[in-house]
Amino acid sequence: MATRRAGESEKATGGDPVKYSNLIGGRWVKPASGEYIENRNPADTREVIGLFPASNARDVAAAVEAAATALPKWKATPAPKRAEILYRLGQMLMSRKEEFAREMTREMGKVLKEARGDVQEAIDMTFYTAGEGRRLHGYTSPSELPNKLAMCVRQPVGVCSLITPWNFPMAIPSWKLMPALICGNTVVIKPAEDTPLSTINLVRMAEEAGIPPGVINVVMGLGESAGAPLATHKEVRLVSFTGSTETGRLVATQAAQHDKICSLEMGGKNVIMVLDDANLDLAVEGTIWGAFGTTGQRCTASSRIVVHQKVYRQFVEKLTAKTQQLRVGNGLRSNVDVGPVINEEAMEKILGYIDIGRREDGAKLHSGGNRLERGAYRHGYFIEPTIFTDVAPQMRIAQEEIFGPVVSIIPCRDLDEAIEIGNGVRYGLSSSIYTQDINRAMKAMEQMYTGIFYVNSSTIGAEVHLPFGGTKGTGNGHREGAMISSLDIFSEWKSIYVDYSGTLQRAQIDNQPA
Ligand code: NAD
Repeated sequence: MATRRAGESEKATGGDPVKYSNLIGGRWVKPASGEYIENRNPADTREVIGLFPASNARDVAAAVEAAATALPKWKATPAPKRAEILYRLGQMLMSRKEEFAREMTREMGKVLKEARGDVQEAIDMTFYTAGEGRRLHGYTSPSELPNKLAMCVRQPVGVCSLITPWNFPMAIPSWKLMPALICGNTVVIKPAEDTPLSTINLVRMAEEAGIPPGVINVVMGLGESAGAPLATHKEVRLVSFTGSTETGRLVATQAAQHDKICSLEMGGKNVIMVLDDANLDLAVEGTIWGAFGTTGQRCTASSRIVVHQKVYRQFVEKLTAKTQQLRVGNGLRSNVDVGPVINEEAMEKILGYIDIGRREDGAKLHSGGNRLERGAYRHGYFIEPTIFTDVAPQMRIAQEEIFGPVVSIIPCRDLDEAIEIGNGVRYGLSSSIYTQDINRAMKAMEQMYTGIFYVNSSTIGAEVHLPFGGTKGTGNGHREGAMISSLDIFSEWKSIYVDYSGTLQRAQIDNQPA
């Protein structure tokens, strides 16, 4: 008889796909609907990754109840003990890194070295957060009155809903999960419908590391049927969402009706500014990595390159030559640089934007622009890395998030204009400048209104211990990653006053002139 792994309700037999289950209260259970969503490899759609639960409000209610039941005990577990489990989890993830990276590449297409990076980010986040178990610092403060102590401590918020996208299928759940757990919260995770397996892998390891039943629950399924009830359930205190700006606004509107804490990490339209004194080869390398890494499907993707007119032609020539050398294909092959896009709908959307770009008055489709569908490509969602040149800042391809391997090159006259163009979008996640002039770099650093800024480096490459998030349409002011900012999402401050004077002391009244 085939052995079943946790999370699998039915092991594949005779070529049937594996059926996976939700995790509720420590048990892997079938969805209430009895229905499943088929998940296929975007590089070769003949391969079914598995069948994943199509959950609904009943599954969500059961998962939230399990999380609420587990809360008192987990909250009362000393944070250093919670941290010990996270340490074990980090070690277990390290030992399975290659296997999980391969499954991720099959599940969502990113090339293997990037999938390894995704798992590594989850490992980094887990160890980093475990270290926080012996800190979780609050602070003391002088009181305005004598014989009185004032201090602040962090308290858990309660049951948290974690709703995640597909493009960083293990890293993003870990950014939310680890700080939520170290603060003493219990959670229900709803992974994106395209990448549930990587979340299952993460959570299975958490179970094995010793996370008690009910502390982490997983409900899989579509946004409307599984995500929406999770964002509105009355027992949920906090919704942490990463995904598109459109969905994020919906989630925030719903969460506001129920007085929930809501943290949003949403879309981006990031910019690299290349000045006339830039090291052009370096800028080209950064553009290739930023625009076409993860097939352009990163929230921090470099989708706009604003280039000084003096070096514009040279930059475009170098970029085109390098882009045309990129090898597109199945990310499991070691010589492939750019994998498929996530699914058919995404492919149609990206090709639609390429068409829009073609029709924009003045923009030139300079390289790429086609779906690859012959030979080895015919069973996958492959698009050529695409460059548009002479793009004007207000064109749709320069304003809207395409989320694919498409880059717009925009000429500029000087630094001031580059900054104006750079800031002239509805998003504010990441920006970067290539220059040898420290004064110009400093000016851009100050004036770019983005959550992340790079000098002589691409718009991607965030590390877990710095705040991650963006301004304007990218977020609502929260930051994940860095411990202080994550703790500010997943804990609430409690201010405590201890009066040991033995008398009634009135703040703002006693000790003040009449
Ligand atoms: P998406 O908005 O379509 O889905 C995100 C998640 O929300 C999924 O789990 C989905 O099922 C769920 N969802 C959908 N409708 C919902 C609803 N009505 N209620 C509750 N949940 C619902 O996004 P996506 O396509 O998975 O991811 C791509 C987007 O994510 C891009 O815009 C990208 O920029 C953004 N992103 C942002 C960051 C960041 O940190 N700022 C990181 C990664 C991705």
